[in-house]
Amino acid sequence: MSDCIFCSIVARDIPSSTIYEDENILAFLDITQVTKGHTLVITKQHFRNLLEMDQAASATLFAKIPVIAKHLKDTLGATGVNLISNMEAAAGQTVFHTHIHLLPRFDEQDGLHIAFETKEPDFSALAQLADQLRLEKL
Ligand code: AMP
Ligand code: ZN
Repeated sequence: MSDCIFCSIVARDIPSSTIYEDENILAFLDITQVTKGHTLVITKQHFRNLLEMDQAASATLFAKIPVIAKHLKDTLGATGVNLISNMEAAAGQTVFHTHIHLLPRFDEQDGLHIAFETKEPDFSALAQLADQLRLEKL
């Protein structure tokens, strides 16, 4: 896609700090480095985000994610890793080409703050919601 910054990275039209590449995916350091080793894993093929991908394409991407995450953790001496993929602007997506953020974690002051505002709906409300959301077949 001509006006996509990540397609330009795949095409080597703009530089990236690449750490892994194969025929389907590319992993490179995010220029903002929220935590040390903050890596983006992208598909070489342009998809807007995961919501646009079928099972085969997403399986190809996700097959490599645990290996790259473990490599980051082990190499940097991190104590954990967060995986984030923002889908659509409402979820914080700013680059509309599928990417997985891998964020090595070190301690509570490492720069990443994820806050879940928890609610406690009663069980019948949860059961009703599950009825609405149940998937018969994938
Ligand atoms: P998101 O907000 O989930 O769409 O994430 C997009 C990410 O892409 C941000 O964390 C940016 O810092 C990162 N980013 C944008 N341009 C580049 C670039 N040229 N090289 C590396 N990372 C980039
Ligand atoms: Zn693209």
